[in-house]
Amino acid sequence: MAENNYSLRNTKINKKKDNKVFDINKINLRKALSKFMVLTIILLAFTAYKVVEVKTRAFDIYLGEESLGTVRNEEEALAIMEDLRKELSNTYGGELVLEKEMTFEPTHAKDDAIIKSSVLKSAIVSKIDFLVAGYSIRIGGQDIGFVKSEEEAKKIIDEIKAPYLEKVEGKVKEAKILEDVLIVKDESPINKVSVHEDLVATIRQGGKDIKTHVVEVGESFWTIAMMYDISVEEIIEANPDLNPDTLKTGDEVKLLVPKSMLTVQVVEELDYNKATDFETIVEKDDSMFTNQSKVKVEGVKGQSHIVESLTKENGVTIEKKIVSEEVIKEPVDQIVVKGTKELPKTAATGVFMTPTRGRFTSGYGPRWGRMHRGIDIAASIGTPIYAADGGTVTNSGWAGTYGKMVEIDHGNGYVTRYAHTSKIHVSVGTKVYKGQHIANVGNTGRSTGPHLHLEVIKNGAHINPNNVL
Ligand SMILES: [Zn+2]
Repeated sequence: MAENNYSLRNTKINKKKDNKVFDINKINLRKALSKFMVLTIILLAFTAYKVVEVKTRAFDIYLGEESLGTVRNEEEALAIMEDLRKELSNTYGGELVLEKEMTFEPTHAKDDAIIKSSVLKSAIVSKIDFLVAGYSIRIGGQDIGFVKSEEEAKKIIDEIKAPYLEKVEGKVKEAKILEDVLIVKDESPINKVSVHEDLVATIRQGGKDIKTHVVEVGESFWTIAMMYDISVEEIIEANPDLNPDTLKTGDEVKLLVPKSMLTVQVVEELDYNKATDFETIVEKDDSMFTNQSKVKVEGVKGQSHIVESLTKENGVTIEKKIVSEEVIKEPVDQIVVKGTKELPKTAATGVFMTPTRGRFTSGYGPRWGRMHRGIDIAASIGTPIYAADGGTVTNSGWAGTYGKMVEIDHGNGYVTRYAHTSKIHVSVGTKVYKGQHIANVGNTGRSTGPHLHLEVIKNGAHINPNNVL
């Protein structure tokens, strides 16, 4: 090519030479000049080529096998990467790890083939996985969540324990989780990083969705239980974090008992004083009736100091045991004396006995112009008067002209009255048996000497006592 140019130019030069005088030296100079020009042209062409080559120099970016586009220089791509790292790191915290290697392959491309940096940025975000360094929470060999730091993982476990530790009655001796829980250093795609509160809820609910009720004004666990036809106990169990007494509008109440992924076992110790009952010892006494008893020695309660251990799992008591019991004060036995003597029957027999021994002095009927409604039996003061039959005392005490009087209702239509007594041994309401000593003969009221005035009333009307004695 250079040779051809050379000859062509020679031809032209030769034509021009026809009209002029030629100096052979000048011709040689021209030849030399021509050669120089050719060289210059070649150099220029090469330079132009070189400029274009440098100008179109570019790099294809690969992420693993995948092409992301073409950039003019590596630095630009690396700067975008660094930007992204910072941006994502600020958003998610923790350390960002690039899963696949980013490579650059030299190429040539015109300006319009170069990817815009904003487009490249979104291409990177959409096509590559950023792995976040952090910690997986593993329960029973299964990863249930991923958090940024070990501290956060521990905090989540503590939050699961917290409500059960707040509700202890005594002091906590031990609090542990029964399942195998591991906090493992791990990496996770950014979109799989757990939201703290969500992870706590997931663990508590056993990974299930639990229906909730938002509390409205005036509602309580009780009204909510009625509304959904579940028991108050179930609501309490489903909501260990809620206090039924401080429930307020807007609180969310879970309506199902969630089966937590974790079992929080809390062993607590209670310590208290307890009164201990005394024993009652019964002694027998055949001089007393079976319905009679008396306290010979008053019993006194003792006191013990109890240490009790309570084991609860997720708030439910599963074991209760006495760790120690120390007697502070021994109880004093109570001694009661009880009668063994058979009790006489107080029911009426229907047959009357003569209530006292003495001399019959006056009968039933008209006497001194008025009606004598009973009979008189004279006896010395203090002579015992016995109930004519079993019954209940319905009157006892001073009764005007009767003096000190006892009245017994026998419950079978008959009532008897015993008047002018000196001393009464029964009171109203006392059940008396036939022959029971109820009073003593006296001279009280309108009386003309110590005697018993006896009346018998049958169905409300006086009858002659002699007819029934
Ligand atoms: Zn009389």
